[in-house]
Amino acid sequence: QFPFGRRLPCDIYWHGVSFHDNNIFSGQVNKFPGMMETVRKITLSRAMRTMQDLFPLEYNFYPRSWILPEELPLFVAEVRMMKDSNPSWKPTFIVKPDGGCQGDGIYLIKDPSDIRLTGSIQSRPAVVQEYICKPLLMDKLKFDIRLYVLLKSLEPLEIYIAKDGLSRFCTEPYQEPTLKNLHQVFMHLTNYSLNIHSGNFIHSDSVNTGSKRTFSSILCRLSSRGADVKKLWSDIISLVIKTIIALTPELKVYYQSDIPAGKPGPTCFQILGFDILLMKNLKPMLLEVNANPSMRIEHEQELSPGVFENVPSPVDEEVKVAVIRDTLRLVDPQKKKRKDTQCLLYPGVADGKLQLKPVKIQVKYGMKDKQHKHRSLKLSLKLKFYLKLGSCQSSEQAPEASEELPDAGPEPDAPRSPEAALPSLCLKQVFPKYAKQFSYLRLVDRVAALFIRFLGVKGTTKLGPTGFRTFIRNCKLSNSNFSMAAVDILYIDITRRWNSMGIDHKESGMCLQAFVEAFFCLAQKKYKSLPLHEQVASLIELCECRLAALRGKRLVWGCG
Ligand code: ADP
Repeated sequence: QFPFGRRLPCDIYWHGVSFHDNNIFSGQVNKFPGMMETVRKITLSRAMRTMQDLFPLEYNFYPRSWILPEELPLFVAEVRMMKDSNPSWKPTFIVKPDGGCQGDGIYLIKDPSDIRLTGSIQSRPAVVQEYICKPLLMDKLKFDIRLYVLLKSLEPLEIYIAKDGLSRFCTEPYQEPTLKNLHQVFMHLTNYSLNIHSGNFIHSDSVNTGSKRTFSSILCRLSSRGADVKKLWSDIISLVIKTIIALTPELKVYYQSDIPAGKPGPTCFQILGFDILLMKNLKPMLLEVNANPSMRIEHEQELSPGVFENVPSPVDEEVKVAVIRDTLRLVDPQKKKRKDTQCLLYPGVADGKLQLKPVKIQVKYGMKDKQHKHRSLKLSLKLKFYLKLGSCQSSEQAPEASEELPDAGPEPDAPRSPEAALPSLCLKQVFPKYAKQFSYLRLVDRVAALFIRFLGVKGTTKLGPTGFRTFIRNCKLSNSNFSMAAVDILYIDITRRWNSMGIDHKESGMCLQAFVEAFFCLAQKKYKSLPLHEQVASLIELCECRLAALRGKRLVWGCG
């Protein structure tokens, strides 16, 4: 912390809430620009819908969702149609206000007509989602999983998943939703912040009992019941990768706006909290992504009526300390330097002693975070201890198995890397490790690259009419059937509709989602009989090819 202002640049900037500092020109920031906006309930649902349109089977891990108020008529019509075609279908829906958290404002309904339209829905948009009625139960209770994911880099995409997470339990035995029990939040909502107020909440010092447990303890129990936990993990990994693939196009638009290519700026990384529900058949379903997952390692306990005390929470500590410690290990700028120099002659070592430069970390608290500062400092002291352990390793300390470390230490008789004294990484790289399996899904990413290319003015996130026309012209998409006048009409129609949804009034013009819609429209027009993802892939290839040819021509002219 720099209470009197920062004079020297830092290696790592640890911001409490979001990426917000425009005066950083180097180092790494622990937040991506636009992440909060990108993972909001509505934006996430939109991004997932786009992917579901392209790849319905691959993205069936996200419950069917509608955005309120604009899709209310669609929601009503679709539910009526599904009920007509299957009269035995007795669905339940969950309504979640956009931008809400900790279960705030959430309620369950049996019929679209039960949506509370009075006031709030107009002023506060929401997502209505199919309710997963048959979750996996443990001790007769519903629970969800909080997994920590490190987005280490956007370009190239690098994703890590923590090997352990948290399981948060309801505090009333679960029953499938009926009109009678719909309002029972302790039965249906797994939020810790709600269930902590239930008389049945169990604080436990053990990681495998109580109302908050480690995910690994759940896996152990499942495995002892004969469940295929390897398959479950691989399904979770693919859920995480696919979700991030759905989010990257929007994130890239924000990124180029805040940190323009070619200008000095920091790089970013971010720890995300994935909330996942397991269905009875062990299929993981994504509930939401949290841009600021709580990193508290203590909880409040009521000692006597009205008297609260913060007590350590071993479950939180076990999971969260490892996540932050290993995030710092992975982004440690000294590590790269050490790696480079070790390649020469391990010159980090002079006179047999390790010479480590301290890593400068700046911690910034948002207003809300200030109250947790004291507790967070405790965590930071703990982390310092771990980092120190790494740098002051004595010869008696037995090195942990380092097979999973990306930079396994030097040869046996060479001085050991400071990493050797630390536990093996809890963060497992899943991307680019499994990139090959998933690269075919990254179509919207390529559409976003085209969008960004035609944005023109640095710092904007919306495309003007001239930019759209230039895109059509340079990619040669206009012809006798699709005149430039029709291009303008397409631009105006789609842009006006997206802007009327009132997401972002700061800038005028076409946002990425509107461009994606226009692009899909053009693809469907051009390649009529193919499935949507093939239509879109074909149009992307055509555009990329024509732009490459144009660039080639310009180079030749330039040389001439
Ligand atoms: P919040 O950000 O307010 O916590 P969530 O989307 O995480 O909102 O929902 C809160 C809780 O509601 C979840 O932890 C979960 O227990 C339950 N829940 C949310 N969506 C569903 C769903 N589609 N099916 C079943 N339960 C759900």
